[in-house]
Amino acid sequence: MSAFGPEMPEFAELAPGVRRIVAPNPSMMTGPGTNTYLFGVDEVAVLDPGPVIRSHLDDIVARAGAAIRWILVTHTHPDHSPGAAILADMCGAELLGMPAPEGRHQDKTFIPSRTLADGDVFETSEFRLEVVHTPGHASNHVCYRHAGLAWLFTGDHIIDGSTVAINPPDGNMKHYIESLRRVKDLGCNALLPGHGELIDDPPRVIDWIVDHRLEREAKVAAAVKSHPDLTTHELVPHVYTDVDPKLYGWAERSLLAHMLKLEADGVATRSDNRWRI
Ligand SMILES: [Zn+2]
Repeated sequence: MSAFGPEMPEFAELAPGVRRIVAPNPSMMTGPGTNTYLFGVDEVAVLDPGPVIRSHLDDIVARAGAAIRWILVTHTHPDHSPGAAILADMCGAELLGMPAPEGRHQDKTFIPSRTLADGDVFETSEFRLEVVHTPGHASNHVCYRHAGLAWLFTGDHIIDGSTVAINPPDGNMKHYIESLRRVKDLGCNALLPGHGELIDDPPRVIDWIVDHRLEREAKVAAAVKSHPDLTTHELVPHVYTDVDPKLYGWAERSLLAHMLKLEADGVATRSDNRWRI
């Protein structure tokens, strides 16, 4: 074990023509580091080059062993996409993905030359990736389904060994749960997350995540019922009884995400940011 979860090999060939390099950016938020995936052998597509870490970008080029023609990203958070523009300059590759939305914690240097939308297919002579728009963790989040393997590359929609942050307004809990259900219906053999190891039992893991979120939502709703007219800040200790107070800042963002879902579902109302059910 490292300080941030299980040790992962820096490089792994996961299937013929599918390779993974772990970026050297381990942290509480990124686990062992950001997973960069390489597709293809004769012509290579790179998914999520990670932050700007020169040694990692050099490693991607060296490991590719052939021309990198395309760089894809799952979303534009700082641990996934900032390396893309620089890697594109290094090797003349095309950038593909959804542009960064407004707001903080977005990588505005990622400017795709081809914007991807739900249902798009990205295909080479070696592999076929289907684009699945999965808003929730980020409004511009996409997953990629490798058709030959029925593997879904999930970015931060689903990660290994931990839940992901849903930080409003760009993060949206209602969309997140809808996107989870959609991904479950795709029928994939494995999930390949942006952080951590391959997940080989997608339906069980997705059900667990949805159940966990809905249990938390029920706890939030119960707290609002017994403590009406509190702000999210005041509600945190009533809901996150199991969380270290040092993490209350994050807990409040997550609680707000639940409240906005309950509001969108027509369950909760607010006046002056004081909540009622
Ligand atoms: Zn991430």
